[in-house]
Amino acid sequence: MPQCCAVPMCANKKGGHKFPTEDKNRLKQWLVAIRRDKFTPTKNTLVCKSHFTKDDYQLPKDSVLEKPRPVLKKCAVPSRFPWIDQNSSLHQKKKERHQRRLARNERKISVQVHINNEKREG
Ligand SMILES: [Zn+2]
Repeated sequence: MPQCCAVPMCANKKGGHKFPTEDKNRLKQWLVAIRRDKFTPTKNTLVCKSHFTKDDYQLPKDSVLEKPRPVLKKCAVPSRFPWIDQNSSLHQKKKERHQRRLARNERKISVQVHINNEKREG
């Protein structure tokens, strides 16, 4: 059986990481993350590397190699998915714009309050 990525909408067959089947809690986190919590991973089920971020990896501390290959952290949970990547960048931009506008309005309001206060005092 070829080992292919278990993430929906991902057809990557280049390999990846096996599910942490020995750690029930972490396994659950992975399954929830890939939106397949009813799914039972087997030895042949992988989550390809494209669903992990750089922060999910660390360099092995006791490696004797000059350029050790980063290994997946014990606590890593896949977090990059087709459905998240598309929405979040759009979402993020909208949110940023909204926050900028809010900040501008707040400044305007505080200036007005300041003026009003001065008037009242004067
Ligand atoms: Zn994948």
